[in-house]
Amino acid sequence: MTTATTPTGAQDDVREVIIIGSGPAGYTAALYTARAQLKPLLFGSSIFVGGSLTTTTEVENFPGFPQGIDGPDLMENMRAQAVRFGAEMIDDDIVSVDLAGDIKLLTDSAGTVHRAKTVIIATGSGYRKLGLPQEDELSGRGVSWCATCDGFFFRDRDIIVVGGGDTAMEEATFLTRFARSVTVVHRRSTLRASKTMQNRAFAEDKISFAFDSEIAEIKSENGMLSGVVLRDVLTGDTRELDATGLFIAIGHDPRTELFADQLELDDDGYLKTQSPTTRTSLPGVFGAGDVVDHIYRQAITAAGSGCAAALDAERYLAALR
Ligand code: FAD
Repeated sequence: MTTATTPTGAQDDVREVIIIGSGPAGYTAALYTARAQLKPLLFGSSIFVGGSLTTTTEVENFPGFPQGIDGPDLMENMRAQAVRFGAEMIDDDIVSVDLAGDIKLLTDSAGTVHRAKTVIIATGSGYRKLGLPQEDELSGRGVSWCATCDGFFFRDRDIIVVGGGDTAMEEATFLTRFARSVTVVHRRSTLRASKTMQNRAFAEDKISFAFDSEIAEIKSENGMLSGVVLRDVLTGDTRELDATGLFIAIGHDPRTELFADQLELDDDGYLKTQSPTTRTSLPGVFGAGDVVDHIYRQAITAAGSGCAAALDAERYLAALR
């Protein structure tokens, strides 16, 4: 770091922009603000540097890589590109924020307070997990949370989709383009999805349903998913189901706990922005990526909104001068 710390633990200087989050949204915001000479400082988490794509293998839908690219390599490239133009990176968490004033205060895990005129929030969202052994280990090896991202890898395979909401029905219906069969596993006897989405799924010959059922165990062979054990929640009976794809569609949790009492969130906890801009409910605070977006949730859309947040911050700062 280049800034000096005062005895009280506060940074002496006031940054033009601080970015929270090291996914495609945060790194793209860092690249743009660095190239605009705003000397951004990015906090990228203490344990999860590079965001969601670091948990996957092949990324085939990020433009510019005709042969595809490894998720961690893509994120390392994005980081290096931002650093090349002068962005500073700290692999630490922001643990509290005070965003109300003209100067925003952000405290890191060591208790140091960082000050900035603008803040870009790009903290992403976490896919809800089943909480079963092997689930993380088999991510990218049969277990997935994103049909748009990974469906293409499952041509002519037997796939399981877990969940009963709109997202699960959308994923299941989309996956019929590739799969030989799709089994939707849902804990209840009825779906939560809208009637339209349900009807679309019911009309698909390739989709069958395992109601009142949950995944009791994930099975693997040679490091790849090979099937699951299903448990009937009413009788407790179990049965094995072979599959090479398991898509978990039981929801997402946007990482907004830090901001909940200061910024407007929607009913699902996502950061609200004044679309089509990235402005939040407080001046000088911008939101980008999956922490805002519960519709598209792609690396390219996150990167695009990171760019938009950088331009919005730049314009806000220009108006202060
Ligand atoms: P994220 O990538 O989630 O990054 C947010 C970062 O902010 C994280 O590192 C987090 O730890 C950090 N952070 C959070 N809070 C704090 C804090 N308080 N202080 C500091 N840091 C903080 N998309 C595609 O387009 N193609 C794919 O093939 C694809 N495959 C995927 C595979 C998997 C397994 C997963 C999980 C997702 C995949 N996605 C894919 C989706 C894509 O990864 C996301 O849409 C994208 O990463 C969202 O970017 P983001 O910058 O908004 O957030």
